[in-house]
Amino acid sequence: MNKNNKKIKNKKLLFVLFRMLNFIVYLVYYDLYYYFAHRLLHSRVLYPIHKYHHNKSLSHYSDFYKIHVLEIPFTSAGLLMAIYFHKLYINQLLLCILFINIRGMICHDHKCVNIVGDHHLLHHKYYKCNYGEYWIDYIFKTVH
Ligand SMILES: [Zn+2]
Ligand SMILES: [Zn+2]
Repeated sequence: MNKNNKKIKNKKLLFVLFRMLNFIVYLVYYDLYYYFAHRLLHSRVLYPIHKYHHNKSLSHYSDFYKIHVLEIPFTSAGLLMAIYFHKLYINQLLLCILFINIRGMICHDHKCVNIVGDHHLLHHKYYKCNYGEYWIDYIFKTVH
């Protein structure tokens, strides 16, 4: 391999790593924001909106989408914050949205407990724990 090919390969590798880093940044923004938004949704004032999601015993991946219409913009604003404070990379943003939706569907389905655990299902059972992803609940001591 000559020197130019190696330089091109290194640039491509850096490009891929940079894109992956943006995906992770978007996800961290979303997960952190979602955690606090979800905690607020369990407050006395906002719970009537979130109650719609908790009203049903969960068993199917599509239950992820059974939320009040007002909850959608409220919990999705984390991605807008990521774009505002970070920068917009449309491919990584779309990939992040896809990942968030697949992850959300999987964690609502009892058939996937062996794959992803029961972290979110325990939230539906006990209400006052497991508001977000495991690592955030661990940091804020809200893991069940
Ligand atoms: Zn849920
Ligand atoms: Zn909840």
